[in-house]
Amino acid sequence: MNHIFYTEEELAFRDEVRAFCETELAPYEDEIQQKNLFRRDLLQKIAQAGYMSVHHPLEVGIGKHCGKGLVYETIVAEEISAVIAGLDMTRMASATLFGKPVARFGTPEQIEKYLKPVLCGEKIGAIGITEPNVGSDVAGMETHAEKAKDGNGYILNGKKYFITNGSQADFLCVFAITDITVNPKKGMTAFIVEKEMPGFTTVKDIDLMGMAGARVSELDFKDVFIPEDNILGGINNGFGILMDELDSERVAIAGECLGYARPAIESAIAYSKERIQFKRPIKDFEGVNFKISDMATDFEAARLLTLKAARAYDNGERITKYAAMAKTFASEMAVRVCDNALQILGGRGYETDYKIERYYRDARLMTMGGGTVEILRFLTQREIYREFDGKYW
Ligand SMILES: Cc1cc2nc3c(=O)[nH]c(=O)nc-3n(C[C@H](O)[C@H](O)[C@H](O)COP(=O)(O)OP(=O)(O)OC[C@H]3O[C@@H](n4cnc5c(N)ncnc54)[C@H](O)[C@@H]3O)c2cc1C
Repeated sequence: MNHIFYTEEELAFRDEVRAFCETELAPYEDEIQQKNLFRRDLLQKIAQAGYMSVHHPLEVGIGKHCGKGLVYETIVAEEISAVIAGLDMTRMASATLFGKPVARFGTPEQIEKYLKPVLCGEKIGAIGITEPNVGSDVAGMETHAEKAKDGNGYILNGKKYFITNGSQADFLCVFAITDITVNPKKGMTAFIVEKEMPGFTTVKDIDLMGMAGARVSELDFKDVFIPEDNILGGINNGFGILMDELDSERVAIAGECLGYARPAIESAIAYSKERIQFKRPIKDFEGVNFKISDMATDFEAARLLTLKAARAYDNGERITKYAAMAKTFASEMAVRVCDNALQILGGRGYETDYKIERYYRDARLMTMGGGTVEILRFLTQREIYREFDGKYW
């Protein structure tokens, strides 16, 4: 039935990525979970297979899959997340959160110097928006940059918090206020920061509830000199770049959410067929099988919304509303599905030997990361009222 939603080419690609994940990533899954290992080498493998480049244009990306679009990015996100969620978070922060703004707004020199090494896995990227005092209210950010005295660059000061790949990144796309005399939306700039730039330090990696293997960091920028050449997309144009990035990020995250939910559903179905209570498999009880029914329905609906947003993006449409809808629904779906799966496994669902508690912990992040579901609901209704001309459809 899946072919109604995906082309044959997309399904073949999914099978390829799934096989890659099984052979190249799955063998390391348990060790990464147990030791919280950051595996740069696995990121390189993913890049060499071409899965960092799928939604980058042909002239920018690396490998045979580049230029395919956001639908393909959701396929990669789902498949890798279904095996090692923290690894896909690492990949996505590098290839998409850092990569997409550079691909869309970078100069040819910036693309050559900063994006291509990231897409081939030699270097790692990150995006720096969130700060200790600033989360949802991104326009209120405190990090700022002033023109250097010699006039040939900017001096960056501030702190960033919750930056995926922060301590590991070679290059960071960092947002800062550059004109305090105007609305921050007109006075924000994106800078490309290199990890060796004096004044840039990692304060710490933050301990997380889930996402083993990923690194999420607090960063400090003290009088970091940023050359003019490292301004991305022009001075004071940062807010537009940020909004553009968030739309595609949210759809890709929705793809990841499918990846957290799918193995949870599969485990719950398999377990409910095998577990015998009252001399019957527990799948015979409505209290169990209605949950399976709801989980599968929820999952399919999330897939449709995700695909809708991704296809609209690939068609060049503005997707703010559908990206917000897809991420809201898919992230809440993943939490509901993992919670129900845990319930179906009974006490074993709570045991770390079974993976359900891990899927649940991983899934729980995504009602926050990339914009909370509250903020996304705000965006969805704003877009609905903006577009409304008497008919919704
Ligand atoms: C593991 C992890 C990885 C992350 N990776 C990155 C990254 O790579 N780069 C990056 O820049 N950021 C990253 N983030 C930050 C993430 O995007 C923020 O956590 C998120 O945007 C919310 O900000 P906050 O946590 O400060 O919550 P707050 O903004 O403080 O919100 C707290 C609560 O208040 C609610 N709230 C706030 N304002 C409103 C409002 N107007 N209406 C209704 N409710 C509201 C929120 O929805 C939330 O429930 C990451 C976060 C985590 C946890």
